[in-house]
Amino acid sequence: MTEVTAISKFACPGCGGEAVWTPAKKSLVCPYCGTVSPAELKADGTLIEENDLVSALRSIPDDQRGWEAQRKTVRCQSCQAISVFDQKRVAQRCDFCGSSALLDVNDMQAPIRPGSLLPFKIAEGTVREDIRRWYGSHFWARSNLSDKALTDTLHGLYLPYWTFDAHAECPWQAEAGYHYYTRDSQGRQQQHTRWEHASGHVSEDFDDVLVPASKGVHAALLSALEPFPTTTELVPYDAGYLSGWVVEQYQIDLIQSAQHSRQRMDGLLRQTCSSQVPGDTQRNLQIAPEYSAQTFKHILLPIWLLTYTYGTKNYQVAVNGVTGKITGEYPLSWVKITIAVILGLILLFIFISYSN
Ligand SMILES: [Zn+2]
Ligand SMILES: [Zn+2]
Repeated sequence: MTEVTAISKFACPGCGGEAVWTPAKKSLVCPYCGTVSPAELKADGTLIEENDLVSALRSIPDDQRGWEAQRKTVRCQSCQAISVFDQKRVAQRCDFCGSSALLDVNDMQAPIRPGSLLPFKIAEGTVREDIRRWYGSHFWARSNLSDKALTDTLHGLYLPYWTFDAHAECPWQAEAGYHYYTRDSQGRQQQHTRWEHASGHVSEDFDDVLVPASKGVHAALLSALEPFPTTTELVPYDAGYLSGWVVEQYQIDLIQSAQHSRQRMDGLLRQTCSSQVPGDTQRNLQIAPEYSAQTFKHILLPIWLLTYTYGTKNYQVAVNGVTGKITGEYPLSWVKITIAVILGLILLFIFISYSN
């Protein structure tokens, strides 16, 4: 029983609530804000290993938490998204999945305040038109996306993101290939490659590597919504920007976020190193990055989201609130597919009859 006591007293780095050890995920999962933090159950049943990000999150003081305005928080029992909105508004359905199973969340420690955000630039009317056009351009989609769906379920939302900055020192080595030419006995030119060892060093500062912390929007749509102009257009957080809008509160899988940002940085470094290899061609590029001065920020980014149910499935169409880029899911029209298949069979039949 001792180990259970020790672990159950583990405070969530995101909200300070009591996180619960979840063996299946080998992590501590916070039942209040959904944060998943890496943890290791030692043989003696006591200690927990954590990464830099966990300790950094936990040390964020109270005066950097909260919305600086009266806000109401609910958690969706169906998709698990946590929505935050104006006190006077009554939420009947989840903006992300349409479920009415919403629970008030009152006992959570205030979340880490966003440092900055991108304000909405694209107006609701424009978005409706763009979605209608987008939908029309997908032939295999069911064609009757009703006006009701467009008016009832289009929501402007601020989504939570973490952005990572880091400095990297990255030595690299590779084989650089230099072409040279000879002539064979018939006088034809032949190309050969001489391989030489090459090495070098890249120093790079990463700024705003984005990692989404949304539960409400389907993961594939989130990556398709990028890029957001975070390096040029972020404005400092002010509660006024959020008034009248729904904000999704972050839920983080810390292991995934850290890995995700690291993979992105590794990939970018590899490109830079590759571009420095001399010669005409290259092979066996190896990089050995060391990261330092890693920091992260919590920011909010605006999207328009349309969610509708067809059959038993939930479909989402999302629009980048700054650039207008659209991405989405749609139910296939089985009528169209069936007609196409039948037409195809008829053509095949005619073709076979003629060729006989
Ligand atoms: Zn929490
Ligand atoms: Zn939901």
